[in-house]
Amino acid sequence: MSNQILPYRQLTRKELEKAEIIEEAREIIKEGLGPICDNCLGRQFAKIGSGVSNAKRGKILREVLIEKGEGVEEGKCWVCNGLFENLEEWVSRALEKLKECEFDSFLVGTKVSGMLLENEELMWEIAGASYAEPLKAELNREIGKRIERETGKIANFERPNLVVLLNLWTEKVELQVNSVFIYGRYRKFKRGLPQTRWLCRECRGRGCEHCNYTGKMYPESVEELISSSILAAFKGEYTVLHGCGREDIDARMLGSGRPFVVEIKEPRRRKVDLRMLEDKVREENKGKVEVVGLQYVKREMVAKIKNAKADKAYRVGVEIKPKVPEKDLENALDTLNGAVIEQRTPTRVLHRRADMVRRRKVHSAKLISFEEPVFFMEIRCDGGLYIKELISGDGGRTKPNLSELLGTEVEAEEKELDVVDVFLFEHELKNFLLAQVFLL
Ligand SMILES: [Zn+2]
Ligand SMILES: [Zn+2]
Repeated sequence: MSNQILPYRQLTRKELEKAEIIEEAREIIKEGLGPICDNCLGRQFAKIGSGVSNAKRGKILREVLIEKGEGVEEGKCWVCNGLFENLEEWVSRALEKLKECEFDSFLVGTKVSGMLLENEELMWEIAGASYAEPLKAELNREIGKRIERETGKIANFERPNLVVLLNLWTEKVELQVNSVFIYGRYRKFKRGLPQTRWLCRECRGRGCEHCNYTGKMYPESVEELISSSILAAFKGEYTVLHGCGREDIDARMLGSGRPFVVEIKEPRRRKVDLRMLEDKVREENKGKVEVVGLQYVKREMVAKIKNAKADKAYRVGVEIKPKVPEKDLENALDTLNGAVIEQRTPTRVLHRRADMVRRRKVHSAKLISFEEPVFFMEIRCDGGLYIKELISGDGGRTKPNLSELLGTEVEAEEKELDVVDVFLFEHELKNFLLAQVFLL
């Protein structure tokens, strides 16, 4: 034994040699159901001082008791059933399992079997649990230290990449891999594409005649299109797309694109070159969607994105029949410029949205071009304003509206509605970014 740990040892021994501690240790040995290992003995006194492991604490207590002439039985421990003599076995199982996954940080957890839980409770009845720590806390720590030593990766209690779960019921190691979150913006060039998978209304995904046995209302979505490249790169199970709002299915999403966070569930890889991933998504979805500005972010970014109130800019084309002078249209847009719109939930979404009145501001509305017979205008407004209804009036549910201002019924052309910008200030997002150490 080296001189450096001698003072510790003496200190510990002094602490442990108090009469009440020795008395309690004697009880444990005498009343126990069989031999007990140093870890399980020492663990009952874990909260007395620090600086030594339970195993060492148990060893000292055993020595003291033997010196005092107590009979101390040797053999397989009745409390842990020999678990702590078998730590290396668990470590090698964990290391083997960890080969499946890329990770930088981890945490160890234990699912304790019923038998060990009962033993532990019995032990606490004998010893009183006043200084004890639970078996699983010690096991997690001891296995964790060994994994750190073997892999050079660090245990992380707050944000581990994965949890190494020691399942004492099945005697197997399981991995709970935490999601990877990526922020970016998507552009959608194709109309008729929903943002996320949309389950069939008739069968709710089981498959029926109505949906041609696909279970879906639309054969593909932005989420499905981009997720195939992403899943392949991260070797994940599935993805969830969290958008900063969503455009109409038949509207394109152009310009700067729409912010989103994609969550990759159970990724086996987590160090993917995101610029290469952008290229891959673009190649695989030519003419449909692309993603730009991908960055690794923290989980909290999902809430940030979902709750963001971002202004939107739309490009919308309308055909006005009967024709009105261009001057009239310009005057009408002038009235809308800066107006606060009172909008009752549009008739077309009433089946899935509460009927209520929203107030949303139009920040600017201007005519940008005229291609016979369609006028194109650009409208920038608060998020959550329904543009089609701002044009049509929705039977008076949206006020003011373009139709009313022109004194004729105007509809937005289905094929001429695009979102051209979603104004979300990227500098507000920097607290949610993860260091991009992964880029090659
Ligand atoms: Zn034991
Ligand atoms: Zn169906």
